[in-house]
Amino acid sequence: PSPLLPTPKLVIDLERLGQLPKDKAGPLARYAQTIQSQRGDYNGKVLSIRQEDLRSLAVIYDRSPAELTEEFIAWGVLDAEARRAVESF
Ligand code: C2E
Ligand code: C2E
Ligand code: C2E
Repeated sequence: PSPLLPTPKLVIDLERLGQLPKDKAGPLARYAQTIQSQRGDYNGKVLSIRQEDLRSLAVIYDRSPAELTEEFIAWGVLDAEARRAVESF
């Protein structure tokens, strides 16, 4: 990881998430809802999550964090910048 660039944030696109079929997106949607409720943050179109949360989600989805990031990018819920966030894992 470059010391010159800040680690990009993991920003979930909540509108896109809401359009995805439940069998794919269900666990991520429930996770995001839990964070929203803990923060009292219900009005956003996006939700910034912790790096650590991607590790937890990777366990839930039975993938590596890097694989899961690629999947979320393919679904359109994370943008391509998120790749740099998992490089630091
Ligand atoms: P906590 O981890 O004890 O954090 C307490 C408060 O510190 C948070 O209240 C927030 O105001 C601030 N805080 C902690 N870490 C960060 C951070 O990385 N960025 C920012 N901007 N603020 C931070 P808040 O937001 O009301 O959250 C309450 C509790 O809800 C948190 O207590 C934590 O247990 C949980 N929570 C909220 N968001 C997340 C999340 O994204 N991931 C996880 N794992 N837990 C979360
Ligand atoms: P940013 O982190 O690049 O976020 C840009 C905008 O995306 C935010 O504008 C907000 O509309 C949306 N956004 C990003 N993450 C979340 C989220 O988890 N929940 C919701 N509801 N919206 C989100 P906003 O609020 O005007 O903030 C502008 C900038 O101010 C942010 O840019 C960030 O640099 C800073 N900022 C705002 N809140 C916090 C915070 O809790 N912690 C830190 N460190 N910076 C914050
Ligand atoms: P952010 O608020 O700009 O914080 C960037 C990074 O600074 C966080 O990355 C974390 O490493 C560190 N940081 C900021 N505040 C705290 C804190 O109170 N305690 C600790 N131990 N570290 C802190 P991280 O964890 O990957 O979080 C990424 C983004 O997710 C945060 O950007 C914020 O937008 C959001 N976030 C994470 N946790 C919370 C939370 O508990 N509440 C809220 N409202 N937002 C959170």
